[in-house]
Amino acid sequence: MKLNTLEDLLHHELKDLYSAEKQLTKALPRMAKAADNAELRKGFELHLQQTHGHVARLEQIAEGWGKSLGRHKCKAMEGLLEEGKELISEEANEDVRDAGLIGAAQRVEHYEIAGYGTARALAARLGLADAASLLQQTLDEERETDEKLTELARSMVNEAAAAPDQEG
Ligand code: FE
Ligand code: FE
Repeated sequence: MKLNTLEDLLHHELKDLYSAEKQLTKALPRMAKAADNAELRKGFELHLQQTHGHVARLEQIAEGWGKSLGRHKCKAMEGLLEEGKELISEEANEDVRDAGLIGAAQRVEHYEIAGYGTARALAARLGLADAASLLQQTLDEERETDEKLTELARSMVNEAAAAPDQEG
């Protein structure tokens, strides 16, 4: 793929996000299953629903723009999810694993936030107002998810600090 214009770059960014989101729909059920904390598990399940919507929005954008989204693999998401998989396979204390899962999930969200921020800015610059607005909606959901994960991590650390002798 030649990147001569900002259109080309936006097309590339959309393909990358599409691949990333599709990989994530396969990983989130695994992350939900690995989570011990009920709120964290529900959070992953909710984000899976949202992620299906993110895939659909990208398809809607591509269709409206007359472009295809196939044949590209987001290697960064592949790597991030591989690291999450490794973490899940480690023998771990449940609370510690949950904290690790939050870290893995936040890495994913930050990657997506960067990608959607870039794509949204490009779409706006190119006068693709509908695309920009759809990308903004997903960006808002990714940010919200990231904030919820931060809150959850804080509350879990506080609970652990309040009951340090629980298991010993
Ligand atoms: Fe997403
Ligand atoms: Fe990527």
